[in-house]
Amino acid sequence: MTPPFSFELIHTSKKSRARVGKIHTPHGVIDTPNFVGVGTNGTLKGLDNATVHQIGLQLMFCNTYHLLLQPGTDVVKEAGGLHSFINRSLPIITDSGGFQVFSLAYGSVADELKSRGKKKQDGMVLKITEDGVLFRSYRDGRKVLLTPESSIAAQKDLGADIMICFDELPPYHIAKDNLQSSLDRTHRWEERSLRAHLQNPNSQALYAVIHGGVDPNLRKASCDFLTALPYDGFSIGGSIGKNKQEMFDMLSLTLPRLPTDKPNHLLGVGDLESLELCVPLGIDTFDSSYPTRAARHGVLLHSKGPLNVTKACYARSREAPEEGCTCSTCSQYTLGYLHHLFKAKELVSMTLATIHNLHFMVNKMKQYQELILRDEI
Ligand SMILES: [Zn+2]
Repeated sequence: MTPPFSFELIHTSKKSRARVGKIHTPHGVIDTPNFVGVGTNGTLKGLDNATVHQIGLQLMFCNTYHLLLQPGTDVVKEAGGLHSFINRSLPIITDSGGFQVFSLAYGSVADELKSRGKKKQDGMVLKITEDGVLFRSYRDGRKVLLTPESSIAAQKDLGADIMICFDELPPYHIAKDNLQSSLDRTHRWEERSLRAHLQNPNSQALYAVIHGGVDPNLRKASCDFLTALPYDGFSIGGSIGKNKQEMFDMLSLTLPRLPTDKPNHLLGVGDLESLELCVPLGIDTFDSSYPTRAARHGVLLHSKGPLNVTKACYARSREAPEEGCTCSTCSQYTLGYLHHLFKAKELVSMTLATIHNLHFMVNKMKQYQELILRDEI
């Protein structure tokens, strides 16, 4: 029988709310706190899944929206689910697809703050109703209706270990009344997601998404409403603030309202500065495309701060990219060679930098786990 999903709390720091735990899933254990690599299309950009495994990444975040449109979740289901399709027994978390669809409708928070407005996919969202969201596929122009039920069905087809409820992502600048009604609808959608999931649990776990923007009362209301329902864990989403302080304030208020015997996940945040702020608050998992995206732009994560390998000063370096790093890139190649590969636009440059950055993240999270066990953070 497939082992069920469970969370084991191992230690809570005496110094903060930081905690060490283990999330048990049918496809392996995730030590927490941990970093989740973003593998949008069932792969981390630039790496094959065997390498991802060697690096020691314990959880991959795949996007239902993209997999729904290409290759289609029916194709993945026929192949035996995502784990079988990508040929890797690694815990996988999928989102509901809602984030991408609403980003099309409203643009990202960053776009909004910079008044860039919606991006090039303008007009792709056709209708938002109580039922769900009707949008046009960017791939072939067909109309797709995403509802709580169809999102859960898609995530069932994918066979993710952890699924996320369908929710609305309201824009950052939204009138309080509208944020309240968006939150109410999101709660109804999350209840429908839970009902759809419980009809066929299939050894999969379902996380709710705590919403409420940066309004403290709405965040509290969202925690109260969702934690009363039998979700397996809680993710924190929606507009989490326009800067780190706003995010920190919102999370400081949210985390103590979540049950300590269930895991939590911070959606879309995983840069080093945020980790430093959020691990002490008790966040268990973080997903972010930052380390892999930075790598593709030649930025290596480094204990002394980000290192831009494309800078001319590294052309003749005979040093390893990071002294003492045991990743396969640093143990085999020099900074000078990596600089050359980026300048020559060789594809492998991105792969080598991505290997280092993920290795860095895996080690960083292990260090956090050790510090928490010693009550040092
Ligand atoms: Zn390295």
